[in-house]
Amino acid sequence: MLQVDQTMKKKSQNNSALKVNKGVEQPSMVNPNMLKEVKNRFKKEPLSVEQYFNGIQQGDRAILSRAITLIESTRPEDKQKAVKLINQCLPFSGNSLRIGITGVPGVGKSTFIESFGLSLIEQEKKIAVLAIDPSSSRTKGSILGDKTRMEQLSINQNAFIRPSSSAGTLGGVARNTREAIVLCEAAGFDTILIETVGVGQSETAVAQMVDFFLLLMLAGGGDELQGIKRGIMEMADLIVINKADGDNRQKAKLAKREYQNALHLFPPAENEWVPKVITASGLTGEGLPEVIEKISFFLKKTKENRYFDYHRKQQLLSILKETIGDTLSDRFYHHPMVKEKWGLFETMILNGETTPYEAADKLLEYYFKEL
Ligand code: GDP
Repeated sequence: MLQVDQTMKKKSQNNSALKVNKGVEQPSMVNPNMLKEVKNRFKKEPLSVEQYFNGIQQGDRAILSRAITLIESTRPEDKQKAVKLINQCLPFSGNSLRIGITGVPGVGKSTFIESFGLSLIEQEKKIAVLAIDPSSSRTKGSILGDKTRMEQLSINQNAFIRPSSSAGTLGGVARNTREAIVLCEAAGFDTILIETVGVGQSETAVAQMVDFFLLLMLAGGGDELQGIKRGIMEMADLIVINKADGDNRQKAKLAKREYQNALHLFPPAENEWVPKVITASGLTGEGLPEVIEKISFFLKKTKENRYFDYHRKQQLLSILKETIGDTLSDRFYHHPMVKEKWGLFETMILNGETTPYEAADKLLEYYFKEL
């Protein structure tokens, strides 16, 4: 019965005046063969390690970009390829100057990097700009996220700009950036700028992977040192009071003096370099030659006293220690036995039945016995 009803319904629909006749099929406005060709051209065939390596050696920026995506990937097959590629690139890396640039949002980092990068390119340098921004997955990329930043630099043949990866933890992002540095150097970039927002832990991670650390600051009213973490200032090889243009010049000069005085209070650095303070403007380019000059002095001095190489070696060894520490603690906290006993030990500590030290000893003892 139901079936009959439906057949009737269909028939009446077909006879309805509202029925739209099927028109003649129109030919596609675009030649389908051409469409296929365009699609194929843009389709990203997976590359072999050799293809990545050759592309990088030829300074092919598109392949370099894809290689960085490869090292950021968490897929096991990509990871295997990435390790091979990094190992192949390592002997061709290390020949650059790695500069960290930090400062609070709005201090003018991207404007500064654009002018600074272009000035360096005028001196025949090849610039790669990488960013460390672990917050970017949340904020959808507060660093280098939108394409309007560094407009001229991004289209310059001698520059490569890579937005921050959004791979979760700071440790993960830092590792990706270190490996990206190796790839950029193997691709012939001789100046690597690592940008970070100076509001978290990321500047410490950057300090561990660069040769020179530049802190951008603004002249403000009142106590110049308010709100500035002492730790960040101690890391800086150069403090640039930025936006020193127009009416701001005078204030910037005052700020410069205050920062210089503050820096005198710090103990002398291991590299025998006394951190410098200068005023500059990323917008007008004022002070940029001085920034470049200070960096050249630093390079000359630290190459002469051999701190440059020593520092790089120390960085490698601290990565080794850090990676072992991270891996061990990760395995420990994910071990089922540790997870099971954790609550009990917490309660005992809070009830005063044991101390955190004793609890740590016991948990570690159990853990190592289980292995
Ligand atoms: P970032 O968030 O640190 O990357 O800062 P931006 O480079 O995006 O700059 C933030 C704002 O400050 C923008 O409106 C810029 O136009 C302005 N700005 C950047 N550098 C300068 C400078 O040297 N002088 C002046 N007057 N303004 C600047």
